[in-house]
Amino acid sequence: MSLPGTPQALAPSRQRRCASELRPRISCVIPALNERENLCVLLPCLETVLVSVASAWEVVVVDDGSSDLTCELMEAWACRQGFRYLQLSRNFGKEAALSAGLAAAAGDVVVCLDADLQHPPALIPQMLDLWREGADMVCAVRRNRVDESPVKRWGAWLLYYILGSGHRVRIPADAGDFRLLDRAVVTALLRLPERTRFMKGLFAWVGFVVRSIE
Ligand code: UDP
Ligand code: MG
Repeated sequence: MSLPGTPQALAPSRQRRCASELRPRISCVIPALNERENLCVLLPCLETVLVSVASAWEVVVVDDGSSDLTCELMEAWACRQGFRYLQLSRNFGKEAALSAGLAAAAGDVVVCLDADLQHPPALIPQMLDLWREGADMVCAVRRNRVDESPVKRWGAWLLYYILGSGHRVRIPADAGDFRLLDRAVVTALLRLPERTRFMKGLFAWVGFVVRSIE
């Protein structure tokens, strides 16, 4: 079902969480580039999970310039209650697609997940448990990178080594973009003026209480 307008105030999250802690309103944001086949699998799974945990929910698929008829698939899904489709005018990159989805999302909590089936919706109930316990942001951390090429693994190690050399803001290694964000975190992210965004960095920069699951 569709959610009413996005609150603008940066309210203390705990205060608001009390009223909605059992079954919050959840938005899922999914950036997608040529993921038609994967979306056919992901969306029904997601719906099953959301129905069981949310008082109201929406799934926002942000099509980042796909050329694989994602558009045709999503126009059909968008006729169903709870599913929304944003089509960007070209490929802007995942970070921009994610930002567009966050701006459109209206839930008390927002779950960002990829369309390529690397982020299992079955983990959402566990993420919500940590949110109910007081986490403002819950990151899913990769157990290992065995599915990646040695070059990509080495690149990831180097990236996190360089990023980790800063003192104030720590970007957790192997935490991807599969995250649950409290509304307060989303509001903070949307207030940042950066146009070219590195979301993992911004997720860390805004602070808040962060917990992880594997
Ligand atoms: N994606 C996107 N725009 C892009 C590249 C990727 O929206 O220009 C989407 C992609 O469809 C997927 C998610 O972003 O749902 C993560 O992309 P990818 O699997 O390439 O990233 P990785 O798993 O390496 O982080
Ligand atoms: Mg991927």
